[in-house]
Amino acid sequence: MALTITNIRVIKTAPQGNQQLIVVKVETSDPGLYGVGCATFTQRAAAVVTAIEEFLRPFLVGWDPQRIEDIYQAALTSSYWHSGPVLNNALSGVDEALWDIKGKLANLPLYQLFGGKSREAADLYGHASGETFEAVAESARWLLDQGFRHVRAQVAVPGYATYGSRGGGDRVWEPAPYCRVVPRLFEYLRTHLPEELELLHDIHQRIPPISAIGLAKDLEQFKLFFLEDPFAPEDNDYFPMLRAQSAIPIAMGELFVNPHEYVPLVRDRLIDFMRVHISDIGGLSVARKLAAYCEFFGVRTAWHGPADVSPVGHAANLHLDLAVHNFGIQECTIFNDANREVFPGTPEIRDGYLWANDRPGLGIDVDEAKAGRYPWPDQPLRGGWAPLRRADGTISRQ
Ligand SMILES: [Mg+2]
Repeated sequence: MALTITNIRVIKTAPQGNQQLIVVKVETSDPGLYGVGCATFTQRAAAVVTAIEEFLRPFLVGWDPQRIEDIYQAALTSSYWHSGPVLNNALSGVDEALWDIKGKLANLPLYQLFGGKSREAADLYGHASGETFEAVAESARWLLDQGFRHVRAQVAVPGYATYGSRGGGDRVWEPAPYCRVVPRLFEYLRTHLPEELELLHDIHQRIPPISAIGLAKDLEQFKLFFLEDPFAPEDNDYFPMLRAQSAIPIAMGELFVNPHEYVPLVRDRLIDFMRVHISDIGGLSVARKLAAYCEFFGVRTAWHGPADVSPVGHAANLHLDLAVHNFGIQECTIFNDANREVFPGTPEIRDGYLWANDRPGLGIDVDEAKAGRYPWPDQPLRGGWAPLRRADGTISRQ
């Protein structure tokens, strides 16, 4: 009898505490054969659930789950207007689950279907942050002790809220103090940490474009592995100016939601690493194509991998990390025990590398009973971010 999709289910869980994870389970007419995929978009989680349950499920029940590309194209175009993080995450949940099913049918881990291993494990970077330079260095040393070779460093700017820094403040942000502090941080880290440690930094697209160019020039001397998101996606046209003035390696794109946003930046060799959040561009099918496109232009992968990617999404990142030739680096999340309990098969971190298991498909599952023990938190903004403002009250980018 022909294999068909019989149901598409959404599993909502929050084992990390504040992250509203969404995992999709695609069930088939073969009892026991199913796949899982990541559809996590924490800031608009309920909208993704609706897109899956109200639209993708009725559209796709009855289809042959082996027709991944056909399903991707059909689901993409069935809304006529497409792209955007809500619809892409919904699509990603299904797409990754179909790849998981494909691997299970072949009895092979996904990296084998993608061409086999190009490396044994994925080199990771961890996050070091703190309220002082000393605290950031201490955080970096902890990662070094764990075997990490790459560390992203962010520091609090006194009196201001700052992304990734653990700093306090009243959700007020000013670019100038940040631009003064960051070069001093890296001067400190280069003086106090081993010189072979690779350092990274994320501007988080929050300063005026010309300030980002100035900061890139200030940081070039510290030999960063990469500088991330210097500009907002709307300011992509500044990249030629930045490139003309600095040889600092650039990572870009975690906010891109349409693969075509990458095309000119890669083609014109304006970035060095692509920072795709795989579920935000629609899943593994499109991510594979992007990775292949980047290879022809010397651009390396650096899939987005913070805690708002579910362990299923991290597994998807990892299978591509292992298979593609132009792997660059993988951002990591150190998952807690609750996550590992809910998601058996979560990739293991050892010596600063992420290691895959050899189980078929994504090699990860979701224990639904345990997932149910970690319900989404009751948040007033449902996961949305509170406003961030300049000192005069103007809304700032987050
Ligand atoms: Mg980032």
